[in-house]
Amino acid sequence: MFINKIYPVSYNSNPYFAKNQPEKQVSSPGVQSFAMKEMPPVSMNYFNPGMDNFILGQAINFLSEVEFSQEDMAHMENIGVNIAFNSGKEAVDYIRDENISIKFAPLPSLGHHAQFQEDNGQKNILINETYSNTRNFADILAISEAVLHETTHAKDDDVEASIQEEFDALAMNALANRYHSRKYPYVFEASSSNIVNDGVVLYSKLFFDEDPKKTALLKRIDEKYGSLPLESPNHNLKENSILKGYKFNTISFQ
Ligand SMILES: [Zn+2]
Repeated sequence: MFINKIYPVSYNSNPYFAKNQPEKQVSSPGVQSFAMKEMPPVSMNYFNPGMDNFILGQAINFLSEVEFSQEDMAHMENIGVNIAFNSGKEAVDYIRDENISIKFAPLPSLGHHAQFQEDNGQKNILINETYSNTRNFADILAISEAVLHETTHAKDDDVEASIQEEFDALAMNALANRYHSRKYPYVFEASSSNIVNDGVVLYSKLFFDEDPKKTALLKRIDEKYGSLPLESPNHNLKENSILKGYKFNTISFQ
């Protein structure tokens, strides 16, 4: 069953949050509580496709506020990205219109931050359940950026995957991460989470690396997705793409 649930309350006064917030942070003292203090009150302007999950509801709201800078968008187009959405709100509207569900689920490893899958016509975005109890602001922002990545996969309406498709989806989470990093300075620096450091923040750095060939980015994509075909429907290799000329799947990563 799909439930549209709206939280008409601010973050600070939400009873779910108050009930679940630990009195003290036992591990990593200071860091997590500092990050949480930085989390601003948000109103739930949008529906919550994460059923009644408060964390996913928050993530959707932080996604809906994302606006890409013109320079960042131009940069992505210049290296061959097909832009799937022009803003976070556009993606959230798509999630709502397509009835896409978002939920926490067990995924094969900590390195699998999120996954898109379609079952009998129902599109699902799965977030690694490692984060299902997080109260860390950086994690919640990272989840929102991962949702944007998976929504890019949802949008092309096919089951085919490709290196270009991952390139396009990774670019979206990098754009969103750049927005959040500017809006909430230092939030990501305090994080020790895998989804942040080996996920969204890493791709922000790789996509905006000073190296014009983006060799580190290409190696990372090769390592993760090198065995996929280069293109798939709606994810065409553009004339100016940095993916052109790179020999994927020629190195064995052990
Ligand atoms: Zn992907």
